[in-house]
Amino acid sequence: MTRTAPVTHDVMTIPRKLPDGPVNLVGLTREALRDTLVAHGTPEKQARMRVNQIWQWIYQWGVRDFEAMTNLSKAYRRELAENFIIETPEMVSRQISTDGTRKYLARIAGGHEVEVVYIPEETRGTLCISSQVGCTLTCSFCHTGTQKLVRNLTAGEIVGQIMMARDDLDEWPRQGEGAGERPRLLSNIVLMGMGEPLYNFENVRDAMRIAMDGEGISLSRRRITLSTSGVVPEIAKTAEEIGCLLAVSFHATTDEVRDKLVPINRKWNIETLLNALRDYPRLSNSERITFEYVMLKDVNDSDADAKRLVQLIKGIPAKINLIPFNEWPGAPHQRSDWTRIEAFADIIYKAGYASPIRTPRGEDIMAACGQLKSDTERARKSRREIEADAGR
Ligand code: SAH
Ligand code: SF4
Repeated sequence: MTRTAPVTHDVMTIPRKLPDGPVNLVGLTREALRDTLVAHGTPEKQARMRVNQIWQWIYQWGVRDFEAMTNLSKAYRRELAENFIIETPEMVSRQISTDGTRKYLARIAGGHEVEVVYIPEETRGTLCISSQVGCTLTCSFCHTGTQKLVRNLTAGEIVGQIMMARDDLDEWPRQGEGAGERPRLLSNIVLMGMGEPLYNFENVRDAMRIAMDGEGISLSRRRITLSTSGVVPEIAKTAEEIGCLLAVSFHATTDEVRDKLVPINRKWNIETLLNALRDYPRLSNSERITFEYVMLKDVNDSDADAKRLVQLIKGIPAKINLIPFNEWPGAPHQRSDWTRIEAFADIIYKAGYASPIRTPRGEDIMAACGQLKSDTERARKSRREIEADAGR
């Protein structure tokens, strides 16, 4: 796609501490923070109170400097500063689209980079965060899928993306201001950036628990949506241990087509996936599941597909997000025509399901769904590697 919309692009370089330096407190659960403090000499009896105090400074007030933690003694602050750091991913660049979407490039330990996208809307602001550098899966329509998995992000790097965006949006409470006094710019989280979150379950879970903690970032579990390509064994765990909303990259209505588009289907097919999804709303106490469906010209966009889709999801409380395919250089698909997308949406709508067509956001800066891929990791997988992965 060639677009010439103006974008702003500024680069910041912030010096970083070496990864093998002091322990980073960001991303530790309350229990892990307690154990870490005790291991470094905080008396057991005080540990609980210290966890509460430090937690609030970090996650409620956005403080990064132990010196600013004024309800701790000067000596204790010094001790903390000697042993620990409070570190979030480094913002390497920020691009702002003509529609207000912001795309950040965040650098994490080892020099790897992930993309983070902020999408402002009238009634909410959504941050799309990444869970892995690259992805082991190779969905044919996804740009990230052409980038090999480099590594899983740590819990600190996941929750750190939220903190980094709050820094940029100037969203931490100001001095003299109570937490939550201003309307929130960053009100929702979607795990729809780079990577398959359910292949990094523990870190995603810990990061989301931190983001949901009422004495910190305090996002309700209903404002967090995790998107999976269909890692069936982890779906019930997501309900029980995170309890957030679930979105599923469905994208096809027969195993034959889904095997090609979403190769994980060869491991867990449509029927197995739907069985796992049927239990999700009950287990997680959430209302409905979002089915994501990318509209690919002449691949999955016929009337017959729409009718099959409605049949398949019968009985599951669902909303279907139709995503016009977002193009990227070398992509093997085309976006369905607009009239086709509307006809498809109409069939689903008449069957009683919400079927919003997602307007692509931030296309001019390649920030739309499936366009994310960090510049540093351009190596394309060979056809043989893609096929070998798909056959797993
Ligand atoms: N790995 C997870 C989450 C990241 S992808 C998953 O697959 O669900 C977030 C959503 O964007 C998924 O529904 C994905 O299928 C969709 N997507 C990927 N590439 C796309 C593209 N080029 N155009 C539109 N949507 C795309
Ligand atoms: Fe990975 Fe999701 Fe992209 Fe598939 S759509 S390659 S699972 S990031």
